[in-house]
Amino acid sequence: HDLRNEDLKDMQELGQGNGGSVKKVEHVPTGTIMAKKIVLIDAKPSVRKQILRELQIMHDCNSNYIISFYGAFISDPNICICMEYMDKGSLDGIYKKIGPIDIEVVGKVALAVLEGLTYLYDVHRIIHRDIKPSNILFNSKGQIKICDFGVSGELINSIADTFVGTSTYMSPERIQGAQYTVKSDVWSLGISLIELALGRFPFSDSSSDESDLSDFEGTLSPARPAPLPPMTRAQKDKKKKRKSRGVSLQGGGMTMSILELLQHIVNEPAPRLTPEGRFPKEAEDFVDSCLLKTPDERRTPKDLLKHAWIDHSRTATIDLEAWASTF
Ligand code: ADP
Ligand code: MG
Repeated sequence: HDLRNEDLKDMQELGQGNGGSVKKVEHVPTGTIMAKKIVLIDAKPSVRKQILRELQIMHDCNSNYIISFYGAFISDPNICICMEYMDKGSLDGIYKKIGPIDIEVVGKVALAVLEGLTYLYDVHRIIHRDIKPSNILFNSKGQIKICDFGVSGELINSIADTFVGTSTYMSPERIQGAQYTVKSDVWSLGISLIELALGRFPFSDSSSDESDLSDFEGTLSPARPAPLPPMTRAQKDKKKKRKSRGVSLQGGGMTMSILELLQHIVNEPAPRLTPEGRFPKEAEDFVDSCLLKTPDERRTPKDLLKHAWIDHSRTATIDLEAWASTF
């Protein structure tokens, strides 16, 4: 509870995201290694205090599938959130380092995320709202846990006001303005699982940087604008940046704006685990049921825990600790 910034010694930068940055730190009095998330909040002190109060719920979130919370404090103009440090980082970082992730491991990821979502909703009535590979963390003990869930309505508001744009794990109904439900998280899980199994964001073009136009054409909405002139240097730099975030919005002189991507998600068939036959039928079926476009037809996390592929993943003997030691 009495976590103070003065007691934390910076060790290393872990990453930058939409809302701020994350550092590996040591809590010197106890020797505990933590991850400190620094979120810049452009709001009144009263709002900052309110956010801090709301974050305290995280103290009650105790599950093997949820990142532990050490505490939060204001360090003007930032809010610092201290949480369990996961030494193998997030799953996006892992697949970008080692390539597509074995489907058996992806099955364990699906199981852990569903358990985490079910715990958050059943026990605390919390909807995650930001399931994506960078919010699924892994450690050398072989544990898989989710982080960055929407506990603080006030924090969600403050960040949403400042940052828009990269919400590409967003479900069709959310894009169309419907309320968030646990089923929106299930959509995001489906997209994330394909990304891990294929080693690329499913809405992006499969070839690397010098993607050819015709290849890209097939995967995009027919309502794309005509080709643009060759990219300027500035555009190419931008493209690199986006690539590194795992979202490819451009291909060989073409631009797919964030708007077109959102339109694509709403209007086109959902992505699938392809090519057919490469993955177990049960895995294909699980992903398909996560990516049903109508939320009424989509199952809840709790219900999906009974899916045959999840059943299989529960008993699968794959040794995640051994797997973790390979990278
Ligand atoms: P995003 O999730 O959008 O990437 P964040 O600011 O939430 O942005 O996190 C930035 C990066 O920091 C993540 O991609 C992840 O690799 C790393 N990270 C976040 N939390 C932890 C943690 N508890 N332990 C280890 N690494 C973390
Ligand atoms: Mg995050």
